[in-house]
Amino acid sequence: MKVYQIVSNFLDSNTFVIEKGKVCFIVDCGADLEDVAKVVKGKKVGAIFLTHGHYDHSIFALQYADYFKCKIFANKNIIETLSDTAKNYGENFKIADFNNFVFLENDGQLSLNGEKIEYFYCPGHSKCSNCYLIDKSLFSGDVLFYQGIGRTDLYGGDKKEMLQSLKKIKNIDFENVYSGHDRSSEKFEQNKNISVFERFLSR
Ligand SMILES: [Zn+2]
Repeated sequence: MKVYQIVSNFLDSNTFVIEKGKVCFIVDCGADLEDVAKVVKGKKVGAIFLTHGHYDHSIFALQYADYFKCKIFANKNIIETLSDTAKNYGENFKIADFNNFVFLENDGQLSLNGEKIEYFYCPGHSKCSNCYLIDKSLFSGDVLFYQGIGRTDLYGGDKKEMLQSLKKIKNIDFENVYSGHDRSSEKFEQNKNISVFERFLSR
């Protein structure tokens, strides 16, 4: 498995292309389609996963789905966020057509193109935050960063839920974390990071 990080030109968010043999999966949709297509290089895209509905992670979702001819998987609460500019923070950005979406609830597991993808509902930064585990790589969106956690003061954010989500993540068997912004990190770095923020949120 190979993971390519593509940073959006304008939004500073990460889009990931995960190459697994002949199939690719995409996590988040903030980078220009052109830049993503260059990495995919005509391979089949099995699915797009959204970590949450903030515009910097979802703005090009429909564009990618059209181009790569695949479905968009996301937590079901994303409908509310994507339907409302004030909740996704994009200027004039909203989605009205959810035909290309597959909605997920709670935690679970998918089998797509012979690959296992686990998903974990991790609210706290938003009501629609999902983390995805492919092999031992965790795609954490804005829940977890290299050194930090996502803001809990935006619409749908909640400190208590964030604390529960961190506890959930601690029990996931991952080796690397690929975050929605900034660089990726390893398990030992996250052990430290998570415990700092567990203490902070428990106060
Ligand atoms: Zn966000």
